[in-house]
Amino acid sequence: MALIVQKYGGSSLADAQKIRAVARRIAKTRDLKKKVVAVVSAMGDTTDELINLASQVSNSPEPRELDLLLSSGEVVSCTLMAMALRSLGYDAISLTGLQAGIHTDTAHGRARIDRVDTDRVIRELEAERIVVVAGFQGFTEDLDVTTLGRGGSDTSAVALAAALKAERCEVYTDVEGIYTADPRIVSNARRLEEITYEEMLELAAYGAKMHPRSIELASVYNIPIYVAASFGETPGTLIHGDVPMMEHRVKVTGVTYDRNVAKITLRGVPDRPGIAATLFEPLSAAGISVDTIVQNTSLDQFTDLSFTVTRTDLRDAVKRVRSVSEGMGARDVVTDDSLSKVSIVGAGMLDAPGYASRMFRALADADINIDMITTSEIRITCIVAESRVEDAVQILHKAFQLEEP
Ligand code: ASP
Ligand code: MG
Repeated sequence: MALIVQKYGGSSLADAQKIRAVARRIAKTRDLKKKVVAVVSAMGDTTDELINLASQVSNSPEPRELDLLLSSGEVVSCTLMAMALRSLGYDAISLTGLQAGIHTDTAHGRARIDRVDTDRVIRELEAERIVVVAGFQGFTEDLDVTTLGRGGSDTSAVALAAALKAERCEVYTDVEGIYTADPRIVSNARRLEEITYEEMLELAAYGAKMHPRSIELASVYNIPIYVAASFGETPGTLIHGDVPMMEHRVKVTGVTYDRNVAKITLRGVPDRPGIAATLFEPLSAAGISVDTIVQNTSLDQFTDLSFTVTRTDLRDAVKRVRSVSEGMGARDVVTDDSLSKVSIVGAGMLDAPGYASRMFRALADADINIDMITTSEIRITCIVAESRVEDAVQILHKAFQLEEP
């Protein structure tokens, strides 16, 4: 019998009435003669409320205690869900992360799943029960409860789907799937019927926000994820890796942007071996990730070197750059934190020339200056002024004909 893993987000479980409505949806899947594992998040804003409560009794709650506290949110929703299903006449059982065999490392607050011991879940499924699992949590070798990081229930669901070899993982949430662009900026952004794992990771996914680790995990185990609204029958978005069938469609899948960008430029850097290593080693040692890097060829043995970091990292990064720039003989270090990134993403761009020039032309026609450019196999990113980034998103969405037909 085919097995489906379903995950329900906290906003779909915010009160008793919604829990009963979700229970009816789970029951409907069960009626299709499927085995069902339902993974639930905590009700509504429970996790935020618990974090707030902890901060009222302690300035720095111990990570172990905080994790056990936060895990209780999902325990509430999974027990209530099992009760709701039983009251509808369906046999159901709730399991905590520990009971469901979700083994993690000891990194409290951001634990990673090592393996899933599926014995108990399989036993319950074989007894014809719907299994309701508390998301977001696992346990260490010492039987301490851990949490997987905010939004981690998606990852719990995909891990269970992979371990149980489920047909697919369905993620139900308060929006109708993944969009071609941020609907707050592009009013005619379109819901995508399908998207590859890689595109989903690059797009920062407008619409349904998903835990990025869940997408990585799904791609490693090749588990299709169907993202849709919890209530109503509107179709959602299928995230999968089935590239051949996707070659027929438009090559750009979506447009994305990021305002959290700052640029650091070193002027007059001598052009000799070891300069880049000397510069970037202290940044990587400090855990600062560097994004776009541009170095010009030198005319007179001196060059300018620019790169971007997140604005959040700017101060720390500049401090570390200054500590080595003088020794390197650089003339000057300047920064700019009024920039943003805009990207087009699409698996179809792989090996298909012409996308970059179309992107640059569209931006040029709108008089938007491009400060820096980077690419991956399926993404082209331009750094532009923050004041023009919304225009850029709209223009590119239109230029690549992503709007509703
Ligand atoms: N309840 C947790 C959170 O709010 C986990 C989740 O929702 O997936 O972050
Ligand atoms: Mg949540």
